[in-house]
Amino acid sequence: MIVRVLGSAAGGGVPQWNCACDNCSAARAGRRPPRTQSGLAVSADGERWLLLNCSPDIGAQIEAFAPLQPRTPRGTPIGGMLFTDANVDHLGGLVTLRQHGERGFIVRSSAAVRAIAAAQPAFAPFSEPPHRWLEVPLDALCEAASKDDVVGNQLAVRAFCVPGTTPGYDGRRRLSGAVVAYEISELDGKNHLLFAPVFAAVDAVLYAAIASAQVAFVDGTFYTDDELISQHLLEKRAESLGHQSVAGEAGTLQRLRDAGTRVIFTHLNNSNPMLDPASAASRQVREAGAEIACDGMELRL
Ligand SMILES: [Zn+2]
Ligand SMILES: [Zn+2]
Repeated sequence: MIVRVLGSAAGGGVPQWNCACDNCSAARAGRRPPRTQSGLAVSADGERWLLLNCSPDIGAQIEAFAPLQPRTPRGTPIGGMLFTDANVDHLGGLVTLRQHGERGFIVRSSAAVRAIAAAQPAFAPFSEPPHRWLEVPLDALCEAASKDDVVGNQLAVRAFCVPGTTPGYDGRRRLSGAVVAYEISELDGKNHLLFAPVFAAVDAVLYAAIASAQVAFVDGTFYTDDELISQHLLEKRAESLGHQSVAGEAGTLQRLRDAGTRVIFTHLNNSNPMLDPASAASRQVREAGAEIACDGMELRL
């Protein structure tokens, strides 16, 4: 299975259009690579691809990665999409993909995410023909929806709930299926990838899934719980935005120290000091044996 990091930043990207924090300024000045909003593309054969979340930057991400570009006058190698939650930075790219032709996309999410997102006029067309917006079963393998569905025919996919809330536009409600993570492998079920870019805590279920994965992309949005406040960017804590911070006693880094898995932090907010390779935060992550995703990173499982 081929895994491509399309984007590695949280909502807003780096630089964010209205932000002149240290990280945004460094990216704007060309001192550090810019980052687009997070998402992965995975493929069993390099021909047909499954998107894991679809950010508003998907257009630029397709142009930056030839395997996602059309090979016929009108067409796409994108075979479907999975959504972890209903945040706009995770499915806003649907708006870019609306010139889809007659075939349509098979998109999948939890029932809760479909109910919230498909009620938004911008995303509603994706729950109607020629598209299909399917509910992922929780804690069970997804079945193929057709003979050319990437899911079930080329890739084995399982979703499970992680702690989290619905997006701000939905009132940040705590409800089952508001946020899920995905385990993805080739059909033999070996060497699975875990995709968990958003979670409010590492509970026992998520820990077990990370520990059993070959590679785990995990929520690296905020290094500390109060970094937005201390940098005078926003009066909100990571926890109130549905993210477990990386550092600290209960932080993800400490929690996963003994998981024995290749852990890659993604979905980094532009406030996060891990974006500076020279920072103490970056050093702590490296010393713990974890990695920080960047746009264009590729792995093979
Ligand atoms: Zn996000
Ligand atoms: Zn910034």
